[in-house]
Amino acid sequence: MNGIDLHIHSTYSDGTNSPAKLVELAHREGLSAIALTDHDTTAGIDEAMSHGHTLGLEVIPGVEVSAGHNDHALHILGYNFNPEDNLLQQRLRVLQDARHQRNLSIFAKLRELGFAIDINEIPPTPGQVGRPHIARLLIAKKIVKTMDQAFARLLRRGTAAYVQCYRMEAAAAITMIKDAGGLAFLAHPAANDRKLQAAPQLLADLKGMGLAGLELHYPAHTPKTFKTLLHLGQDLELMFSGGSDFHGDGKPHIKLGGPPKEPPIPYELLAAIKDKS
Ligand code: AMP
Ligand code: ZN
Ligand code: FE
Ligand code: FE
Repeated sequence: MNGIDLHIHSTYSDGTNSPAKLVELAHREGLSAIALTDHDTTAGIDEAMSHGHTLGLEVIPGVEVSAGHNDHALHILGYNFNPEDNLLQQRLRVLQDARHQRNLSIFAKLRELGFAIDINEIPPTPGQVGRPHIARLLIAKKIVKTMDQAFARLLRRGTAAYVQCYRMEAAAAITMIKDAGGLAFLAHPAANDRKLQAAPQLLADLKGMGLAGLELHYPAHTPKTFKTLLHLGQDLELMFSGGSDFHGDGKPHIKLGGPPKEPPIPYELLAAIKDKS
């Protein structure tokens, strides 16, 4: 028993490892349970769960939904829902189609900028194409040298080929997860709010929409951020989750299970999630 990791990306979104490989890595790390939380898709869950079954590693269904509330761009994590749920799949397809249209618009802008580049040049992937795939193609075509350059020059908000992606209303994202039998958590609450100035009001709003909890254990959280979130969550009677946001080689400094210097993420968090869903 060596902790859990409830925030992991595979090749079905923008991670660089297959779900089976991730389960193997987690097993090797001695983790006791994981959730695969690909962006806006549940397509890798079957593979992860069946491989988990083979290796004796607990895998619970997860997803990370791109959402918005007022001016906030948010990621909502869903846990322990029924991945086969028809309505859930219908609703996720809206996000997947929007992402595809957004990608086409990015390529149109890149061509307007004079680059001879086409979306079909991206190597086949089992899942969804995102900006990291486009960045890797820009490197392969020697248009830029690094991932950072691709984002800084062309793909980031405010740059020439940036296109905003459709986001689901936070209330709809939370409802979607609950309707499929799961629990919704706010991912990395400090990501766009370093000092957590907006967090108290935001979390209260989201709780009113049915949010179950917040992601407390996260590699970027300082001890101060952790403490503030712990108190905020306790005040609002929210549950807690935790994960690494592992993307494989996409974010090579991130380790499965969280930073090795820190204590493992306790299994009790998952036990509470299973209890309530
Ligand atoms: P998308 O969901 O297609 O809009 O792409 C967002 C993804 O791009 C996120 O998973 C980020 O981790 C990744 N990303 C953003 N900036 C960078 C960067 N500078 N280098 C590598 N990946 C990045
Ligand atoms: Zn990602
Ligand atoms: Fe995220
Ligand atoms: Fe993530």
